[in-house]
Amino acid sequence: MAKKEVILSGMQPTGKLHLGNYEGALKNWVRLQHEYDCFYCIVDWHSLTSDYEDTSDLQERIKEMTIDYLAAGLDPERCTIFVQSDVKEHAELHLLFSMIIPTPWLERVPSYKEKKEELGLDSYGFLGYPLLQAADILIYKANYVPVGKDQAPHVELTREVARRFNNLYAEVFPEPQELLTTFPVVPGVDGRKMSKSYNNDICLADSPELTASKLKKMFTDPQKLRKGDPGRPDICPVYDLVQIYNPDYEEVCRRCKTGELGCVEDKTNLAKFMNAALAPVREKRRELEAKPDYIEEVLKNGAGRARKRAAETMREVKEAMHLR
Ligand code: SF4
Repeated sequence: MAKKEVILSGMQPTGKLHLGNYEGALKNWVRLQHEYDCFYCIVDWHSLTSDYEDTSDLQERIKEMTIDYLAAGLDPERCTIFVQSDVKEHAELHLLFSMIIPTPWLERVPSYKEKKEELGLDSYGFLGYPLLQAADILIYKANYVPVGKDQAPHVELTREVARRFNNLYAEVFPEPQELLTTFPVVPGVDGRKMSKSYNNDICLADSPELTASKLKKMFTDPQKLRKGDPGRPDICPVYDLVQIYNPDYEEVCRRCKTGELGCVEDKTNLAKFMNAALAPVREKRRELEAKPDYIEEVLKNGAGRARKRAAETMREVKEAMHLR
């Protein structure tokens, strides 16, 4: 049987995942595990580049995230789920890359400039973030990295790193390609992008009641004050969610525009459809919460598999570099 191509992707351990993570990444990961040799990593070292002051709940966040991965349908028999810091080879390869990559390559990564100003981050580790990401990808010789458009420059940098290494020493690394996926827009309840840091998220772990009450407060078209007023679905964040969860979204659009449909009714229906869609995930989540040993076992086995692959690559890297 032909060897499957390799995919690497990761998420920072933010804890319980929200609909943005689910619709924007996880569902795609679940699909990909059937076609590729997938490595899904919880990148705890990456989270320290911005979130280093209070790490007291880090292990809890990793556990919650693993539960969400599994509840969403990742199958530990089909893909490798592991924590980055369990595989020390990522750090070793990052160190070696840091010797051969010019600093300006990192300074020109768009997200570095943006976040440096936005979050006031200027640590050594923060600058090296895309290089650690390159190590995460290349240590598994990944062929593809599923990303949204904004992450494409990081994959481009990874290719440059691979080329530089291959030119200097020996052809060890393949050049990974982006697996560009168009994800649905998932706004948070305040209309901005759904994000834990904005506190505007709806989590997979939320109860149906909490989901409904969050939706009730969600921003809508500000010109539609009451039923009867014509609305503008194209600028309404609720409608972005309606398009994902309500199969009658076209009818919603029409009735909103004529004013027949009120926001309360629309949101009540949306809550119903959303809760129905999430019910199996939530059910599985509850089962997994009662099995902490199993969660640990999944991460332990995943780390074992990942380490084996990473160690093979490091052997080649060291041989190419004449290291011991
Ligand atoms: S009826 Fe629905 S789509 Fe229209 S403005 Fe209200 S919430 Fe938005």
